[in-house]
Amino acid sequence: MEMKPFQRDAILAELATIKQRSPFYAKKFADVDMGQIRTQEDFERLPFSEKADLREAYPLGIQAVPDEDVVRIHSSSGTTGTPVIIPYTQKDVDDWAEMFARCYQAIGCTKLDRVHITPGYGLWTAGIGFQLGAERFGAMTIPMGPGNTEKQLRMMVDLQSTVLCATSSYALLLAERIAQEGIRDQLALKKGLIGSERWGKRMRERIADELGVELYDIYGLTEIYGPGVGVSCRYNTGIHCWDDFVYLEVIDPKTGRNLPDGEVGELVITTLQKQGAPLIRYRTHDLSSIVPGDDCPCGNTNTRITQLVGRTDDMFKVKGVNMFPAQVEEVIASVDGVSSEYQVMIDHLNGKDIMTVYFECETDDALRRRQIEEAVQETFKNRIGITIVPKAEGVGDLPRSEKKSTRILDNRY
Ligand code: ZN
Repeated sequence: MEMKPFQRDAILAELATIKQRSPFYAKKFADVDMGQIRTQEDFERLPFSEKADLREAYPLGIQAVPDEDVVRIHSSSGTTGTPVIIPYTQKDVDDWAEMFARCYQAIGCTKLDRVHITPGYGLWTAGIGFQLGAERFGAMTIPMGPGNTEKQLRMMVDLQSTVLCATSSYALLLAERIAQEGIRDQLALKKGLIGSERWGKRMRERIADELGVELYDIYGLTEIYGPGVGVSCRYNTGIHCWDDFVYLEVIDPKTGRNLPDGEVGELVITTLQKQGAPLIRYRTHDLSSIVPGDDCPCGNTNTRITQLVGRTDDMFKVKGVNMFPAQVEEVIASVDGVSSEYQVMIDHLNGKDIMTVYFECETDDALRRRQIEEAVQETFKNRIGITIVPKAEGVGDLPRSEKKSTRILDNRY
């Protein structure tokens, strides 16, 4: 994607002083003459920033302002090892609120909305971000935090909450409880604002149906402010991200090369206004793609990304095509008569990659099975552009596993 002129100006201005402000970048860009970075191509040659770099800078090595300018810290919930600490200035906090307020506006909220916030508060950026944005926007916030489902439901009924903010898994749990208790009629919910993570189409439909709400995806990560960096709109054309605050790239996670719009790869983010902890070319490990064009019917012309399709760790490459389990799942799910279980086997024979996809189908009839195999093969060809070897098995024949990664068996290396 072409950098917008105002983004290029912001990036060049940021790079001009970053080494002086930030010991972290002074070290990272030690060999780079910042005066030589003038074009998008120059920028795309700069080294990436990684979560591991931020861990190494623990606790406040990433800080790029004097101590007296820091008003808050947040920390990402690292699953392993040292956490990452991100310092915020007052402007950072205000900017985050501004972005998040735009999200509420983008999904059609008004000041009469009552925003029920279930994500957690504390070091994590979730709950407080949802709250900051709603307050800036001018809606009523109900800062519940997670858990205590009984109380959540009571407040939802008594306060007539209209917007539910939640992770997809908690939204589903609430939806199920609401159905069990038969209190749907007592609720006033209209919209669900769901924190970005990969969630399947089926889960989405269940939540939307059971709660009777429109669902929106909100994107963000603690290292880059938190949730609110972008949101989907009612036309569902992707997640609109705020171009004046973030510059987005999508790269091939294996080679680090920038990919054209529409191709799935790793999302890389550069902050354009962040003071406390500016991030240049930060690798998110989220897999997504940039939606070509800026013609969403909602009128928002900010850069759009697709809903996340997974994490880079899940990705694999066959015949030069990057693929990930979610894509395989989608293809499998779209063919009639095929269940959701699958296994992929990748081999390398006579200089060629061979991808065999095993899946379960409900029929024992040999002819019908062959038809299904052909349908699966054709769908892979059409959607992913790759020819696979389809193998239909009976229901229950494939090993069951919770972990997605174990469904991909790569025998090549
Ligand atoms: Zn839109």
